[in-house]
Amino acid sequence: MTMSMNSSNNYKVNTVTQSGVDTSNWGVKQNMETSAASENTIFGLNRHASTQPRSKVVMNAAAGDDIGFSVSGEFAGSTKDDHFDDIVSASPKVNKTARRMGSKARTRMILAALDKDHEGSWGDVDRNYVIGGNWKSNGDMDFVNSFPKEVLAKAEFDEKKVEVVVAPTDLHLNAVQKELKDTHVHVSAQDVSQYGRGAYTGNITADQLTDMKIGWTLTGHSERRTLFGESDADVALKTKIAVENGLNVMLCIGEQLEERESGKTGEVNARQLQAVVDELTEGQWGNVVIAYEPVWAIGTGKVATPQQAQDTHAEIRAWLADAVSPEVAGATRILYGGSVNGANCADLIGNKDIDGFLVGGASLKPEFADIIAAAHNDQKK
Ligand code: PEP
Repeated sequence: MTMSMNSSNNYKVNTVTQSGVDTSNWGVKQNMETSAASENTIFGLNRHASTQPRSKVVMNAAAGDDIGFSVSGEFAGSTKDDHFDDIVSASPKVNKTARRMGSKARTRMILAALDKDHEGSWGDVDRNYVIGGNWKSNGDMDFVNSFPKEVLAKAEFDEKKVEVVVAPTDLHLNAVQKELKDTHVHVSAQDVSQYGRGAYTGNITADQLTDMKIGWTLTGHSERRTLFGESDADVALKTKIAVENGLNVMLCIGEQLEERESGKTGEVNARQLQAVVDELTEGQWGNVVIAYEPVWAIGTGKVATPQQAQDTHAEIRAWLADAVSPEVAGATRILYGGSVNGANCADLIGNKDIDGFLVGGASLKPEFADIIAAAHNDQKK
């Protein structure tokens, strides 16, 4: 394996060579050595620290160098600078080593360890969009008999590029599903029981949803968390039982206003996600879409700025890379939710880590078709 790095800023150009490195997994499992061995600094790469040996990369660079590079050759991949800082905050485990060169250098080491199947930064991985509509406790039979026909069935989008999913009340699931049967719009529950069948009055189980050919459910919507007291652990169990039964899950996370204002957004998202990480296998993340919904933006008309949303999504993705795996970080769709409408959706969707939306109020209106169109027309992927 050869990895050439072209430098920018202060970094010296290096050629890193290593034969016999197993790239069947993403990580570099053995030491890589620089061709010129001066001022080397060893970095520990930490992926699944408990199950895999720490990989080491030996680089030729001076402390504090701001390394900018592109990777070419067999280990080809492009890297994006604006992901690096996010990765830093997501990987405190290796900060001790990283400090020797400055955090930016370390984050590049992590990218250097991606094999050729994982080229590019995780934000650049080609992911289909998801546009979800959360109808909450809204709608009646008049709505159910008209909106799907008049708006959803007429929405034009490439179903290979955009998945559209609407979540009516449980009572209306079946009727909406029937209305949508000749379309590419899917139907989702808004919640699912964390238990199986049995004496759980009022709960609908994951296997009852799949029995009804419902393919999706939300979990952890902030209204479930705040109004109905669902804990992180409850949400994690719901997510687990849903994916075990083959459902796709829109897992909602997000911080309250005070938490954002006190700089705790990352911490809150990480806490909510960690509960789910503790329950799922790596493979089960394939059924999970994360909906980042800052609680202060839900139903308030106060939308996060595109930059705020992009930054938080990138941070979530970097956190996933560290807590689960780079593959999962690259593949997981991260939706933004919170006062998305026909007027603000195009600006938001243009950001590389925003893979769609979970929409409340506007999903009950004809402008939902404009939101679907914004994803369909977006060119970043
Ligand atoms: C939601 O409830 O998930 C949501 C994002 O609502 P709204 O779009 O109305 O803010």
